[in-house]
Amino acid sequence: MTRLADYAANDQSSLGRRFPEEAPKYRSEFQRDRDRIIHSGAFRRLEYKTQVFVNHEGDMFRTRLTHSIEVAQIGRSIARILKLNEELVETISLAHDLGHTPFGHAGQDALNACMKDYGGFEHNLQSLRVVDELEERYADFPGLNLTYESREGILKHCSPMKARELGDIGHRFLNKEQPGLEAQIVNLADEIAYNNHDVDDGLRAGLISLDQLCEIRLFADQYDEVKRRYPELTDRRLIHEVIRRMINVLVVDLIDHTRQQIDIINPQSIDEVRTQATKLAGFSQEMQAMNLELKQFLRQHLYRHYRVHRMSAKASRIISALFNAFMDDIGLLPQDYQQSAKDYEKQQAELGRARAVADYIAGMTDRYAITEYGRIFDPVELT
Ligand code: MG
Repeated sequence: MTRLADYAANDQSSLGRRFPEEAPKYRSEFQRDRDRIIHSGAFRRLEYKTQVFVNHEGDMFRTRLTHSIEVAQIGRSIARILKLNEELVETISLAHDLGHTPFGHAGQDALNACMKDYGGFEHNLQSLRVVDELEERYADFPGLNLTYESREGILKHCSPMKARELGDIGHRFLNKEQPGLEAQIVNLADEIAYNNHDVDDGLRAGLISLDQLCEIRLFADQYDEVKRRYPELTDRRLIHEVIRRMINVLVVDLIDHTRQQIDIINPQSIDEVRTQATKLAGFSQEMQAMNLELKQFLRQHLYRHYRVHRMSAKASRIISALFNAFMDDIGLLPQDYQQSAKDYEKQQAELGRARAVADYIAGMTDRYAITEYGRIFDPVELT
């Protein structure tokens, strides 16, 4: 690994783990975090969870697992150039979507609506809950007992009320501070990854067209350039060539602009990064505007496309039906979740029961949720 900058996260300046452990012999602390994530059950389930397209729509689409790997790839490239901690960037990237419900945004909105009277549901907080509590794999502690820096990166946003409940990890939302640069980079790598792969998946699904995309500057600039250089290229290769160039211009702009900000502020430690009033990582103003134009296009033409909306509406009905059925009768839950529901109920009454039900539903993959719905509501399904 290249030498880390003074402002990077490192083992020596780490704020440590909730349950102290001996330092690993041959790995860094952040490597250990990454390895724990890769071996977790929630990580494996990302394979059958989706963002936009429901899992059974086709094998060519991104899943949350491949998305997380793309985020890690983009994030690590940026981290290396800026002399940030690549291992921490990889860790946060692989963990950032662990708390997502089945059926992407639609699933999250539906579960949040079900949890309205019970403190709500937020996938970001759930990701932290997965690594802090829900993964039960180690003899000495609950959860994965990750370092503060990994947990800081996973918790992207948080309401002031929740922040107060969370203790140290929530402080920055109350003090208006920033996370370390590794976390800031993952956030932007996430955005670069999903905007670009949604263009790719949207085109493949036939929900958006090249003509429409050519109205968008970020796409059109690269499209014109590729067309000029390779006038004979077939559509499939053309699309990929344009997308890889879009990713590249975004990444290069992000590196250049962030480096300028770092040079101006010249932070001497990760704490100096944290106490800045604004984030140091970001795009130039021009790229920010072009990126926003692409995001708005996707929102309007892809995420609100009637075929996507049909999937989302169906997903919402499945989630609410499951939630209501489990709330009415916890006897329908698998035994370990029944136990959690009873334990949480002792502490928080109905609120506790709702949290156990939400944990169970959030942990489901798309296909598991569909199967579970069949088991509970389909009169023909008797097992
Ligand atoms: Mg993501």
